[in-house]
Parts: sequence; structure tokens; C-alpha cells
Amino acid sequence: MNQPLAPGATIGIVGGGQLGRMLAMAAARLGYHTVVLEPDKACPAAEVVGHHIVASYDDGRALEQLAKLSDVVTYEFENVPVMAARSLADRVPLHPSAEALEAAQDRLSEKIFLNTIGIPTAPFVSVDNEGDLAQGLVRFGGNGVLKTRRLGYDGKGQRVFRQARPGDAGGVVAAMGAVPLILEGLVAFEREISIIAARGLDGTLAAYDPAENIHRNGILFQSTVPAAITDETADAAREAAYAILSALDYIGVIGVEFFVLPDGSLLVNEIAPRVHNSGHWTEAACAISQFEQHIRAIAGLPLGSTARHSDCTMENLIGSDQDRAPALLAEADLMLQLYGKAEARPGRKMGHFTRIRPRGDQIG
Ligand code: AMP
Repeated sequence: MNQPLAPGATIGIVGGGQLGRMLAMAAARLGYHTVVLEPDKACPAAEVVGHHIVASYDDGRALEQLAKLSDVVTYEFENVPVMAARSLADRVPLHPSAEALEAAQDRLSEKIFLNTIGIPTAPFVSVDNEGDLAQGLVRFGGNGVLKTRRLGYDGKGQRVFRQARPGDAGGVVAAMGAVPLILEGLVAFEREISIIAARGLDGTLAAYDPAENIHRNGILFQSTVPAAITDETADAAREAAYAILSALDYIGVIGVEFFVLPDGSLLVNEIAPRVHNSGHWTEAACAISQFEQHIRAIAGLPLGSTARHSDCTMENLIGSDQDRAPALLAEADLMLQLYGKAEARPGRKMGHFTRIRPRGDQIG
């Protein structure tokens, strides 16, 4: 695919959550049809896509159907089975590639990849048993975060150790499900930021301003732009994202999360090979959102401007927070998105809102 995708073409999306929903809406604005592969009949994307294949992500016939119906395929979450991504890529352009997906899917290979291209991360050790964990805890002075290597999200599958002794490793690996784990040194960060960047089919790079993120219970609570960081730190975040995109020969939008250390230097926490929750603010504060940017990139269109017309704060609506919607809608300069999920379970992302305000650096 060297020509831009013509209007009327079909974009396939693996995963029908809120990110798939917002990608489909952005695709529709550019005149594309969408088809989603998602096992949940009542998923957020179902209402806004042209066609919904209700099947699991690794269902061979469903993947074949998705490839047949689509001119290009993308995905909205990083836990798409790599085999499924490869089987799609054999039949239809897949962006980002199966290799990019694979690099981001396992916290251990992700960190090895980042360190290999010269991007620092928290120190880490691979943990397969209690002996590994006990040794790792000694190495990191008793302070660390133990995480599942795969399938973790929103702080799930994590355990924090503070001033732990080697004996505290007892029973922990079994309690985490006896799956492959990684122990990271506990980073004394000053703040957390993320950057949403994109690489087009022709290799063009673009990045939005970094957002400053606050997590609660391991889930993103709030993103504020601009982040309270120096220009040097912002530049370093952009350069790191560009290095990752180029090393992976990546097409599409990526989210890169960082820890900012007290001296302003950065460690990458993780990369997400997709549009990202900490980039939802772009819909309210930029002419071209991260969702449209991703569709532009995978469709071979020119990337859009990442300029920000406003300062802003995005907040997630988790569980019963959705009940705040009527009051939020009464506020001027507030953009609300609800994901159409029927059940507001605790910890479930139901929607988000972004408050915009004039740019502080352009007042007065
Ligand atoms: P993650 O699922 O890796 O994004 O982790 C969720 C949150 O846990 C991060 O946003 C941090 O607030 C915290 N966290 C994760 N890893 C570390 C670490 N190595 N040191 C300190 N805090 C961490």
C-alpha cells in the first residue's frame, strides 16, 4: 500500500473498547468504513462501526473475514495475540506491525529493546521463582515493583515492596499466578508524564505536547497539559518517542509513559502501541486528535498538526463517576465523552472529560 487509502475504503480494528470506538468515529469523519473484531456483542465500538465481527481475537475464520473486509487493519490494545496479528499481516497491511506489538507486549522484552536503543528505564530483573525475587529485592535495596510480564494493565498484576527482606519473597510468585514476572527498582520519581507521537507511512514524525499524569489505584485519573517540566525535558521525551518509532519502523500513534526524576531526566515506564488514555485531551485542545492522527498515519494520509490551541485537564470517569455527566455538561469549555457501557462496575472506565482554558503562555 503506497497510495493513500481512498475515501470509502474500509479500516479493520481489532478490539471494540472505547479506543476502538473513538478510532472508528475519527475514521468515519475521513470518509472510511470500519469493521471491528470483538467478542463482546455490546462493546463500546459496536454502535459506531459499520460491521461487527463477534468472535475472539484468535478465531481463524474471524481473522480471515476481517482481512477480507479491510483495506488496512489496526488494533486498539496491546494484548492482541501476536499469532493473530501475524496472520492478519500475511493478508492485509497491518499497522502498527506485529513486531511493534510484540515488542510492547512483554515488559521484559520491552525494557531490553528500550535499553538496546539507548533509552533508560527503571532497573529490572526477570523473576521466574522466589529465588530470583529474593535476589532482586537485595539488589534493589528492598524497594521494587513486581509486575506480570504480560497482560497487565491499569496497575493490575502488580505488587509494591518497600524495605522488604529476601524472606518477604515467600509465596509471592505463586500468589501472582506463577506466571513470568519482572521486578523493577522502585523509582523515586517527581512526576509522571507521557507523550503521544506518530509516524506516518512516509516516515514523517509528529508529537503532541507531553501530558502530566496522576494515577489513582494504578488507573490513570488525570492528565494535564502543559506538564510542569522544562523545555529540555519535553524535548527529551519527544526525542525518545521518535527514536522508538524509528527503531520499530512504526506506522501509527504510540503512547510513551515516563517517570521524571528530580534532576529532570527521564526513564521510560512503558510504551503502548496504540492511541492512549493520556492522549484523550487532544480531542478537546488540538485541531487534529490522536484518533484522527492514527487513522491518517495508517491510511497513508499526511499527518495532521499537533499544535495545541488551549491548556487543558482531562479526567477519567470511573465506575459511578458517570453520574457526574449532567453537572459536567453544564460547564462551559468542557468536552465530555461517554463510552456507552451499560454497566458502571467499580474501576471500569465509563468516559472522560476535558476542561480547556486559554494557553497560559499566551495570556497577557
Ligand atoms: P504501569 O502499569 O507499569 O504503568 O504502572 C502503573 C503505575 O504504577 C505507574 O504509572 C506508576 O505510578 C507506578 N509504578 C510502576 N512502576 C513503577 C516503578 N518501577 N517505580 C515506581 N512506581 C512505579
